[in-house]
Amino acid sequence: MIAPVPTVAALSEYALADLGPPGAISLAQNESAFPPSPAALKAGAAALGSGALYPDPDWRDLRTAIAGVHSASPEGVLCGAGSMELIGALIRAFAGPGDQVLGTQYGYLFVQTAALQSGADYVAAPEPDLHVDIPAILDRVTPRTRIVFVCNPGNPTGTRVANQDLVALRAALPDTILLVIDQAYAEFDPQDHTPIFALVQDGNTVVTRTLSKAYGLAGARVGWGAFPPQIAAQVRKLLNPNNIALTSQAMAAAAMTDQAYMQRTVAQTGAIRDACAARLRAAGYDVPQSATNFVLVRCASAEAASRAKSALNSANIIPRPMNGYGLTDALRLTIGPQNVMDHAAQILENLR
Ligand SMILES: *Cc1c(COP(=O)(O)O)cnc(C)c1O
Repeated sequence: MIAPVPTVAALSEYALADLGPPGAISLAQNESAFPPSPAALKAGAAALGSGALYPDPDWRDLRTAIAGVHSASPEGVLCGAGSMELIGALIRAFAGPGDQVLGTQYGYLFVQTAALQSGADYVAAPEPDLHVDIPAILDRVTPRTRIVFVCNPGNPTGTRVANQDLVALRAALPDTILLVIDQAYAEFDPQDHTPIFALVQDGNTVVTRTLSKAYGLAGARVGWGAFPPQIAAQVRKLLNPNNIALTSQAMAAAAMTDQAYMQRTVAQTGAIRDACAARLRAAGYDVPQSATNFVLVRCASAEAASRAKSALNSANIIPRPMNGYGLTDALRLTIGPQNVMDHAAQILENLR
């Protein structure tokens, strides 16, 4: 028999998310309601002609564009095939068998998967009231904790904590623990993010971002992070040398440069989201205030959530059930175009 290594054998079977039949309207993956910036489309098309060549393994244009927007130094930026690639590499580089990765109750499930892939244990701090709780995280730190992972704003809760609270978390953590702050939805959260990037200077904090959500480039697979140099050097060893396709790099660099388009689509998404959330609350659903491009809709019971899912599916709309997070009474709805959200809200109103 051909046997996998024990850490792989112990992993559960890969499970595809239910994205509905081809042509269904997916509100299941937090993709943007809007197409990529016209500048990104143009740059991607122009790059096609160079498709015989390998992409830039050093992401120079992309890093320069990112550094220009975030007033970072390009040397501190690493780019990944989605921020998932960077998160996976970070965990493999800094946690192994016997180590603990500490996340939060409703933290990104992929972090748990990545920890188990590298043979580390995953521990989650409770999130009372669906919010990241700093004392609860500090309570769970042990001598085996190597990485603390916080997503802000959170997925699937949509809630956020003040960046100053994360600065306080960093100050309270031992210097030997790596803090990773996943800011996949930060563009939707208007608070000042400079104190978070400033933490990177101290050498033990990493901030990750993605082009998949606010920039509407989920299909291009581009993420990036701000890394201290010593951390970047280790993570770079684990990335595929040519990890981001030529067209994707070109699209991402152009999208970064078109901040006005991103800000406009984020504002429109926020307006659709807040109107949809207000409507659902008026119909009796519990919808936490969201600082992202999705809403978590809590129904009266698990049965009610399952009925809501079926009703939406009958209209060819695919929400994301939250059973994997233990939120059996909830569905997560990505904010799609206005007409789709109106239709979804109407269906959910009719169930009450
Ligand atoms: C979408 C998302 C990401 C980014 O994933 P990509 O690999 O960049 O597409 C990271 N973290 C969270 C919590 C997300 O929801």
